[in-house]
Amino acid sequence: MNVPVWNPAVEFMEREALERLQFANLRNTVTWALKTPFYRRRLAEVGMTHPEDLTSLRDLRNLPYTTKDDLREAYPDGLLAVEPEQAVRLHTSSGTTGMPTVIYHTRRDIDHWTELVARCIVATGATARDVFQNMTNYGLFTGGLGLHYGAERVGMLVIPASSGNTGRQVQLMRNFQTTVVHATPSYLLHLHAALGDEGITREQLSLRKAFIGAEPHSEQTRRKIETLFGIQAYNSYGLSEMNGPGVAFECVYQTGLHLWEDAYILEIIDPRTLQPLPEGETGEIVMTTLQRQATPLLRYRTRDLSHLVGGNCPCGRGHRRLARIKGRSDDMLIVNGVNVFPSQIEDVLMKIPEVGTNYLIQLEKRGSLDRLVVKTEIYAKLFIGDPQTLDDLRERIGELLRSAILVKPAVDLHEPGSLPVSEGKAKRVLDLRPAF
Ligand code: ADP
Ligand code: ZN
Repeated sequence: MNVPVWNPAVEFMEREALERLQFANLRNTVTWALKTPFYRRRLAEVGMTHPEDLTSLRDLRNLPYTTKDDLREAYPDGLLAVEPEQAVRLHTSSGTTGMPTVIYHTRRDIDHWTELVARCIVATGATARDVFQNMTNYGLFTGGLGLHYGAERVGMLVIPASSGNTGRQVQLMRNFQTTVVHATPSYLLHLHAALGDEGITREQLSLRKAFIGAEPHSEQTRRKIETLFGIQAYNSYGLSEMNGPGVAFECVYQTGLHLWEDAYILEIIDPRTLQPLPEGETGEIVMTTLQRQATPLLRYRTRDLSHLVGGNCPCGRGHRRLARIKGRSDDMLIVNGVNVFPSQIEDVLMKIPEVGTNYLIQLEKRGSLDRLVVKTEIYAKLFIGDPQTLDDLRERIGELLRSAILVKPAVDLHEPGSLPVSEGKAKRVLDLRPAF
């Protein structure tokens, strides 16, 4: 296969050269960080007052971690490292887990970010000839403008559709023969169901690729999207603290997400001991920005869980790969003492042929015990006929879940379209247990 590439000099850089570049950029980053009151204080605590105090890349280990709470405390401008007039844009996180955080960008920062997104897009085999419909929210959320700028740089025809309004999305896709879309995986599944309702088949669309991200999803969900639409779906990982999309992306080989190591230093740590973990072990992703001047971040604890994929990707890029994100460390549910990740439940559900495109995990309290209820949509035709079939299906789903998560949930079966759909990130867990 001819490997499509945007910036061969950087994407195929030898490890040694890449690390030299990282070190030079780390020193720049510390120089910028020292301009903020927040990092001046933090770095002084570890005896670092000058970028020359860093003598090698290994010294990164001596730098303090930065947490989401630190960002919230520094809100709104405690982490701004340039004069306010040099900043040209700000973005905030979606606030999935609390108060939002803010990240500022200079013109140069936006230019770097755009380059990273362009690399990601081209790595999937998309080209300037594609028509790109961006179905994520335009606004403070980074998925809209982030992908938009990158796609324009590649030269695609960009349709800034933003999120929601499924009828209009379909109309745009048909009128302009959209070939590539960007959306959350949950929204694409919803879109597919909506096409069915309107009697539109995939042959009437020109779609060939999707970029999916912004929320945890399983390999089974990706496969489902690929099969339903007859396309390739590429996992895209990013977070507003690290610009947004463009941090890590799958290439045509879909063997994990290449993380651009000229722009970020990646560490995987044990979230309890804060010690680095060896390749292959799952832990918290920690990242240091290397190119961002307006809001440099050192060893930012993302709370996202993943591991490094070993070996080399057939595409030849040396930038290491992250495995699919398992979820956030704070996503983990404790059900009667057993640890359960929502992604494990999704993995089981999406393998079951009768299961439709939407589900919800509900937690309740029954006396002193937790009760786990998995609500899932199934195909409409299953509701017609023998009720015993539904009982059997409920039992089968319950058993499959029990063998995966060690807890047997109650299973509720729902008609297609009856569970809530969100326009942005899907809300998969409803925890109704009282706090105390
Ligand atoms: P918030 O943290 O408020 O949701 P963001 O909009 O910055 O704000 O979202 C970034 C988060 O979304 C990541 O930290 C991660 O938890 C999740 N995320 C983004 N892309 C993916 C992906 N491809 N797979 C799983 N989770 C993802
Ligand atoms: Zn690759």
